Amino acid sequence: MLRSARVRAARRPGIDYDSIPASLVAAAVEPGDTGYADVRSTYMRGGRPGLVLRPDGTDQVVEALAFARAQDVPLAIRSGGHGISGRSTNDGGIVLDLSRMNRIEVLDVATRRVRIEPGARWGEVAAALHPYGWALTSGDSGGVGVGGLATAGGIGFLVREHGLTLDHLRAAEVVLADGSVRRASPTDDADLFWGVRGAGANLGIVTSFEFEVDEVGDVGFAQLVFDASDTAQFLVDWGATVEAAPRDTTAFLIMGPPRGGMVAAQVMAMVDSDDPETIIDRLQPFARIAPLLQQQVQVVPYPAVVQVPPRHSSEGEPVSRTGMVEHLTPAFAADAEHLLRSGATPFFQIRAAGGAVHDVPADATAYAHRSAHFSVLAMGSGNRRLDALWDAMAHHFDGLYLSFETDRRPERLAEAYPGPTLARVRDLKRRYDPQDVFRHNFSVAEPPAVVL
Ligand SMILES: Cc1cc2nc3c(=O)[nH]c(=O)nc-3n(C[C@H](O)[C@H](O)[C@H](O)COP(=O)(O)OP(=O)(O)OC[C@H]3O[C@@H](n4cnc5c(N)ncnc54)[C@H](O)[C@@H]3O)c2cc1C
Repeated sequence: MLRSARVRAARRPGIDYDSIPASLVAAAVEPGDTGYADVRSTYMRGGRPGLVLRPDGTDQVVEALAFARAQDVPLAIRSGGHGISGRSTNDGGIVLDLSRMNRIEVLDVATRRVRIEPGARWGEVAAALHPYGWALTSGDSGGVGVGGLATAGGIGFLVREHGLTLDHLRAAEVVLADGSVRRASPTDDADLFWGVRGAGANLGIVTSFEFEVDEVGDVGFAQLVFDASDTAQFLVDWGATVEAAPRDTTAFLIMGPPRGGMVAAQVMAMVDSDDPETIIDRLQPFARIAPLLQQQVQVVPYPAVVQVPPRHSSEGEPVSRTGMVEHLTPAFAADAEHLLRSGATPFFQIRAAGGAVHDVPADATAYAHRSAHFSVLAMGSGNRRLDALWDAMAHHFDGLYLSFETDRRPERLAEAYPGPTLARVRDLKRRYDPQDVFRHNFSVAEPPAVVL
């Protein structure tokens, strides 16, 4: 790899820069390069990798993986760089950055079959599908990447009507740890297909996804701010309202600590209808929950809600705790109010996660949380206060959605993959990644037995 003396001086130990495969050299970025600042960190985390490889195609992913495996440094897989559980950057290691693999292609109009590469962002997907009158439910942020979200779950603004993103997956191309390329679908390598939908990060690198997308036209989108100072009661009523709403309505809630004595709750709700009367009808039960401080309701194209924001990178190391909840009971709401009033979390979010998600059996995919109505998340700073308060709420939770978790204690695995799911995921891990190459996003590999 031809680089100036200044660039060579910034190289990190453990990487044989001179043997980077020829096809990857031109797009590779190393610490002394001018483009390094743009690729070293991710949305949530600061990083200082020794090398960022940016393959453009499956063959190049295979080459990059083989090269990375031959180096004695950590390996991170990055699609959109919005990982919270997954670490898509590192210090001194190699990042396999799939952002150049961002093509979106319609395969068949009649069956609404679409092929999407992992480096595309959900805002780009929304914009590409809209001219067809289609959308694929993803999340609340257009900046999130396809690769990380679609291999874990995908709880988005259309979740109650259309289920998880991974419920729309019909096939995936996966590069396994040994460099073999597999097609996973109900008829090709069905076990891998099961595992990719919820535990994909543990099993390989998905290089393309085939989805069946939905017909979605313009939608109603509401942003409502409530005085939620009667916090526990607000949460109970909001939860009951979400559960009672028709499936065309999905709502997310964000709260923080009291300010000036008041707790405010920001609700974002999507109604999959362009009919103003239907939209108002769906929103009225929400408007009655508590005093409204602000309200904005628009009929907009779906891509207007899920836009790609400007690139953003962080220097931090987030603390994020999460759990799935069946119902927002008074007991849960009281503990959530205590958490909010403690000031330990500036960002507390509850996403609706039920509706059509419940139509899929719990053993149909490696995402097994098929009875919860809500996914709850609290972010905090690096101290232990949030952990202590969250752990005290553990009895309210039934599993967790891995994408929002940073606590690496081993019991989190059994919550992410409840019941028989963990054993099945572990079996796949033994078969597809026996050396635990893909270990930087809650590895499911069993710890080695202690020999006395
Ligand atoms: C602002 C923000 C909003 C969010 N909103 C939502 C939401 O509404 N709903 C929701 O469900 N989630 C949401 N998430 C969580 C999000 O789904 C996960 O963080 C997801 O992993 C991000 O995907 P990415 O490709 O951008 O991340 P990356 O940081 O690129 O990847 C994260 C991890 O995913 C794995 N991975 C990435 N690409 C691949 C691949 N191609 N093959 C196999 N494994 C791969 C790797 O382990 C990697 O470490 C949000 C996150 C953020 C930061």
